[in-house]
Amino acid sequence: MTLPDIIQVEVTTACQAGCTFCPRTPLRDGWISKHIEWSDFAGVLPLVKKGTLVHLQGWGEPLLHPHLWDMAAAVRQQKGSVSLTTNGGLLDEAVAREICRTGFKFIAVSLAGATASLHDKLRPGPGLDVICANIEQLSRMKGRPPVHIAFQMMKPNLEQLPGVVSLAASIGADRVIASNLDCIAGPEMDRLRVFGQERNQFAEDVIAEAMHMAREKKIAIDIYPLRLRQDVPVCEADPLHTVFVTSGGEIAPCVYTRLPLQGDIPRYFEGRQESIPPFSYGRVGDGFEYVIKGKKAREFTGAFERRNEAVVAGGARGFALLAMPGLRNIQAADIVRKQIQLPAAPEQCRFCYKLFGI
Ligand code: SF4
Repeated sequence: MTLPDIIQVEVTTACQAGCTFCPRTPLRDGWISKHIEWSDFAGVLPLVKKGTLVHLQGWGEPLLHPHLWDMAAAVRQQKGSVSLTTNGGLLDEAVAREICRTGFKFIAVSLAGATASLHDKLRPGPGLDVICANIEQLSRMKGRPPVHIAFQMMKPNLEQLPGVVSLAASIGADRVIASNLDCIAGPEMDRLRVFGQERNQFAEDVIAEAMHMAREKKIAIDIYPLRLRQDVPVCEADPLHTVFVTSGGEIAPCVYTRLPLQGDIPRYFEGRQESIPPFSYGRVGDGFEYVIKGKKAREFTGAFERRNEAVVAGGARGFALLAMPGLRNIQAADIVRKQIQLPAAPEQCRFCYKLFGI
């Protein structure tokens, strides 16, 4: 693997909220709540260059770490960019000033609904009113970074997506990112998911309304796909250019292979309870660059490289088909798509919905 463009650092696995849709809730008995040690964070810094983004977030609330600002400042000193995702409950005036002073690339704040009654039910902890007041305060500050609203589409809250767009615009946010509930630990969480194999007309209508609302309110919006695909060479977590550093100082391909748990990681996939052993490339303490160029990392990323190569080779076949008389673009694309046999993804990616474009 070449040096990563994005290093996601799990500042902590502790959280003051109790989201019903977070794996921490059903898995609370085996959950390891831990702040990252400074020595592990410092081990990341030699790889931070101009153009590297260090995203401070994992399976926890980063604003709980007492040295968060020191970490952000250290990244900036290396000329890297820094960003974070927060649940917004602790985003008070002092925190907002620190964010502006440090110079973050962006801040993402997660919301679970557009009304307090639904939001606070799905996410017991900091209430919607408090979070919105905090976002509004940050949005009004001079020199503040772009503010993104992160919203996970679920059955109970999907209908409120247009309302979230409207709310986001009214409190000064710049973008709404509607993603899927992609880490599903068991059947209870599975009942919340919207995406699947089939078309969902209701979801499509809501999304169309949300896009319309975004245009009207002049706010950017990104919405993740709701249908599984079989032709995704590399998942959106992009382990070819991104690494995840856990609060325990391990270097993993993504957040999904290294949840802070004792024992295996449960994955509820297509109606079946599955699990995978926790996986990482190695420890920061063994030398960041040494670990990401090591055998485990090469084997993992190599599987995705082969999938990319298969698509490139398929594209070349597509050009050859296009040269055939009478064959239209769309037919050639369809033939090639059906012909491409993607090599197997890494074993650790079995039962991961991200591999299906979600
Ligand atoms: S497919 Fe899933 S487990 Fe594999 S790298 Fe992507 S996000 Fe991680």
